[in-house]
Amino acid sequence: MTDRTIDPALTSWIEVARDSDFPIQNLPYGVFTPAPEKPARVGVAIGDYVLDLAALHEAGAFHTTPIAGENLFAREVLNDFMARGPETWDAVRGRISELLRTDNPELRDNRILRDRALFRREQVTMQMPAAVGDYIDFYSSREHATNAGSLFRDPKNALPPNWLYLPIGYHGRAGSLDVSPAQVRRPRGQVKPTADAPPIFAPTSRLDFELEIGFFVGVGNRAGNPISTAEAAKYIFGAVLLNDWSARDIQQWEYQPLGPFLGKSFATSISPWVVPLAALMPFRVAGPIQEPPVLPYLRYAGEWNFAIDLEVWLKTAAITEATRLTSTNFRNLYWNPLQQLAHATINGARMRPGDLFASGTVSGATPGSLGSMLEISRNGQEPIMLAGGESRCYLEDGDTVTMRGWCEGGGYRIGFGECTGTILPARA
Ligand code: MN
Repeated sequence: MTDRTIDPALTSWIEVARDSDFPIQNLPYGVFTPAPEKPARVGVAIGDYVLDLAALHEAGAFHTTPIAGENLFAREVLNDFMARGPETWDAVRGRISELLRTDNPELRDNRILRDRALFRREQVTMQMPAAVGDYIDFYSSREHATNAGSLFRDPKNALPPNWLYLPIGYHGRAGSLDVSPAQVRRPRGQVKPTADAPPIFAPTSRLDFELEIGFFVGVGNRAGNPISTAEAAKYIFGAVLLNDWSARDIQQWEYQPLGPFLGKSFATSISPWVVPLAALMPFRVAGPIQEPPVLPYLRYAGEWNFAIDLEVWLKTAAITEATRLTSTNFRNLYWNPLQQLAHATINGARMRPGDLFASGTVSGATPGSLGSMLEISRNGQEPIMLAGGESRCYLEDGDTVTMRGWCEGGGYRIGFGECTGTILPARA
């Protein structure tokens, strides 16, 4: 079946710059408030605009789709729409695409509805796109796990013995998730000034970012019913950029034997626009060869890695010019999202609409492609030189970290927008 919504030849009557993240082939979903006192509602991004889907629904624009009877877009979160499943998502996406097509006059020539439903993106405030019940963070980049293991464990045994057999993950704190642009207060906690000394209570001095992609679960499963790799794609609604902020000193002291805790749970930021899986489908690529071969429940058919260019930029409070710290690609992730979802549910664990699972830090094999400051500065041993003469080993107060992601090909770009956050000083 061909999906007309990703036809490279499609154009919209809304003018979209060639380098825009949001051409008609993307149509990412988000939740926004058009003005401070107005209720939140669901929209899609198109060029420099947001299309208000709640207003379109009210006007009857979805009367031919499976959601005709209920305005699932007049909601503060996407969960109810996510729960409907891929046939409904496809039908609705097809309808939105149709309404925005150059040759379709329905909305284009309906000035009253257009004025009511189109907002300039810069004028609206984005909200968390979903109520996240459970949040998982994986550890699926081999390069990152090798780098982190070399610094924290032992370069000769950088990968833990289970790493090549299962996608390692932990359950994160959903309540710590926030939407970009974020303000991140420097956390305080137990840190060890030196290896031999007892811990002290202090603001973290090793505040870091982690460059990740997060996938939203759409349809949930029933408890006791694992999701297979063959079915997993039908459960995935879409993807966002994710910054898994980390306090390395707190993390290093606390993490054994039960994994990350307070070194992670102070903040996790996501980009506001959820790029539908349908928009990412043309950018699938083969993943790395998995050797040793994986257990049967982790095998999969087809190509399920995604070629997403990723960048991280750092801007300090004193200098207006940003420095690019990282340029990498999501395509080399060792464990793909289908395997992650299959593994996360193989014990019968339940996934619910709006649950979020993140890839783990995405690092490449070369110095300019590392997804955390831990790796770039080799845990503080090699300062990073910034534009304007400053340097950093870890983040300082006032620093702003901006992540960007996009797929490119066929003459258009499927962008994720930005995931950005600024560091506030620790509480006195
Ligand atoms: Mn992480």
